[in-house]
This record gives sequence, structure tokens and C-alpha cells, in this order.
Amino acid sequence: MNNIKSEKIYSEAVKYIPGGVNSPVRAFKSVGLNPIFIDKAHGSKIYDVDGNEYIDYICSWGPLILGHSNEDVLKGVEDALRKGTSYGVPTQIEVEVAKLIVQAYPSVEMVRMVNSGTEATMSALRVARAYTKRSKILKFEGCYHGHSDSLLVKSGSGALTYGVPTSPGVPEDVVKDTLVCPYNDLKSVEDIFKKQGSDIAAVILEPVAANMGVVAPKKEFLEGLRRITKEYGSILIFDEVITGFRLAFGGAQEYYNIEPDMTCFGKIIGGGLPVGAYGGKREIMNMVSPIGPVYQAGTLSGNPLAMYMGHRMLTILKNNREIYNDLEIKAEKLEKGIMDNLSKLGIAGTVNRVGSLVCMFLGEGPVDNYDDVKRCDVENFNIYFKELLQRGILVAPTQFEAMFLSTAHTDDDIEYTIKSNYEALKIAFNK
Ligand code: PMP
Repeated sequence: MNNIKSEKIYSEAVKYIPGGVNSPVRAFKSVGLNPIFIDKAHGSKIYDVDGNEYIDYICSWGPLILGHSNEDVLKGVEDALRKGTSYGVPTQIEVEVAKLIVQAYPSVEMVRMVNSGTEATMSALRVARAYTKRSKILKFEGCYHGHSDSLLVKSGSGALTYGVPTSPGVPEDVVKDTLVCPYNDLKSVEDIFKKQGSDIAAVILEPVAANMGVVAPKKEFLEGLRRITKEYGSILIFDEVITGFRLAFGGAQEYYNIEPDMTCFGKIIGGGLPVGAYGGKREIMNMVSPIGPVYQAGTLSGNPLAMYMGHRMLTILKNNREIYNDLEIKAEKLEKGIMDNLSKLGIAGTVNRVGSLVCMFLGEGPVDNYDDVKRCDVENFNIYFKELLQRGILVAPTQFEAMFLSTAHTDDDIEYTIKSNYEALKIAFNK
């Protein structure tokens, strides 16, 4: 593998951009490498500037459920581009995307577009606080909801990878109203609600935690959260930035048959362009400006190009529901293949999978929460990552992220990945 061009760009990049990257996990720093710089991507394959080809399991961290530069998604985008890139006055396509979301999520009666998942969760919390006239929020260890101040507490994703789950620069005063419980631990939620329930505006969670690797919710955990929040008049917010339109067309709430009060979206709904959205019951969304007093705005919100791509993406998913079954079959094959490899090699490890979100944890399972995740074998993962990369497979450069499958991953891709997984594990563990 030749990295000459990537290294050259990187040496320039670090002069002008912190760490040379615009989002920390892109740096490959956690695995002791410099990042590869990408030239292009098609289907399941991504190509760096040195011409190396990789089967891609990052898939832009979730949006590309149909693979890279999917022709169907891109169809007509050039015409849309030539009509103008932003107006600052509304367009019909925004209404069409909102309608698609509302029709797919019975718990969402109105939805507001923003530009990222971070904005979606931040805005949803503001609305929930205003609606309930309460200040406190409850989140879970290892869940990531973007990088707004009040949510960067015991956070997952890059914050976990780089050992700053609670970031410096976030004032104590701002996070004093952020309560944190262990994921899948209903008892701790019950205890906190007994003491402070009447002050808690909202409970926010990833209904499948996919930013500390992948951790599935116990069914009674989700059901319990629904029951407790209802009892205390708190808003239950599902952060479906990853799971929305991925686990099912109706997201985790359809998959687990539980209705939250509010939902946050991102990733897939923009078809690969920058988008986020938050929505919920009409009565709650009536709080949002200009019909209500809660201010939230955005110059590029509902951007016509992002809406165009999102509309195409959601329409394709809506009209081809067999996609979800297809993803399930592929992901199951990958899960089984990796589990077999671990057992053949006698390596302690487990694979957590929900739908097309897959994660191999190295170390003793089961992995049900943040403490279990933190016990995993990061050192051997790092060797494993490098060995995979050498074999033309790109996974997230950290133990604490998911593998994202897309419909573009072929059976051959999966088989080659399983074979490479075996070889890389063998080397990492000196077997
Ligand atoms: N919520 C979840 C569940 C996420 O996975 C992410 C990003 N990975 C966010 C929120 C933040 O989204 P963004 O990066 O678009 O701000």
C-alpha cells in the first residue's frame, strides 16, 4: 500500500486544520496512523488519492445506506444544482421531505429541518425544556448526541476514542442540569426519577447505542423509559440520527414498536449532504418559532440540494422495503463469519449487531453498556485495524464505532471481509 500522496496532503493539512481533519475520528490518530485522503467512492468501494481501493464500512458514518454515489440517488441532482443552491425563502421540496418523514414516523406530526445531528438534538432539548418548563435532562453513558455543550458529558464516538467524554471548555454551570445514567440500567433511571423526576424535562437516548460500538437496548429498558417518562411528564427523545431509516423505514421506533415524544434525525435523510431534523407531537412542535416562542433558525436549513438528495433517498427506501431484509441477511452473514473466526482462533470477543449496524468487540462479552465497552482490548484492535487496511478494508479507526453496511456491499465483499478479518485477527493476536 502506497501512501505517498496522502502523506503529502496530510503534512499540508496539519498546518491549516487542527489535526489535519475536520472531525476528530478521521485522523486515525487513535490507531497510530496518519489519515488517508479520499479521491472518490462508488458503491461499496472508496479510493484514496494514491489509488488504493478499500471496501468501505464507514460509509460516511451512516448516511450512505445505498452505498457511495448511488446513481438513483444522484439522478437529477445536476439540474437541481443549476436551479440555485440556496434561497433563504422556502421551497416545495422541503415540504415533500417533511411529509415523507411524518408519514414514516407516526410519533412525528411536525418536523423542522436543521443542518446536522448536533443541531437536531440541541434544538429538540431546547423545545422539550420550554414545553415542560423544566431544566434537567437525562442522557446515557456512551451515547453521543453531537457536540453541543450540554450533551458532551460521558459521551461516545470520538470523545470516547480520544478519552475526553466530558470535554474541557464546557462550563460546569452548563452541564449541571445534565444527568447521566448507565445504558440499559432501568433501575438507575427509576432512582433518579424518584428524587428529581419533577425537574427532568427530557430523557434523550440512542435507541440503539451506535457510538460506543454497537449496544442493543434491552426491550424492557426502552419500555421502562417510555413508562417512566410518561408517569413524570418528561419528554422521551429518541436520537435516531443513525437508526432513522436504517433499522427500518420507521427507524428504531418501528423496529422496537415504541413511540417517543420527539425524534432527531440526520445522516440518511440528507442522502449524503448536510442535514438534520427534529420533530414530534404537534403540541410540542407548536412551541417552535415562528408559531411558538422557542427560537431556532438556520441560513442553510432545508437547503434545496440537501432536500433534493434526501427526497430521492427516502423515496427509494420507501418504495423498496426489501432493502431492509437484504441488509439484515448480509449483516447476519458478516456477524456469523466474524463470530466463527473468533471462535476458531480462540480469541475472546463478541459481535453486537442490530440490523445493518455491526460491531466486533475484542474481550469478554456480553457488552451491554459503557463499562463493558471500556473493558475491550483497544491495543489489539489497533493492530487488527492496520491489518484490515492493508487488505483493502476500511473500518472505523476505533473499537468504539459501528460497521455500517449498505445495499452496495456484495456477497463477495462480505466473504472477502470475513476472510481478511480472520487473517488480521490471527496477526493481531499472534495465533
Ligand atoms: N446523534 C447521533 C446518534 C450521532 O451518531 C451523531 C453523529 N455521529 C450525532 C447525533 C451528531 O450528528 P452530526 O455529526 O451530524 O452533528
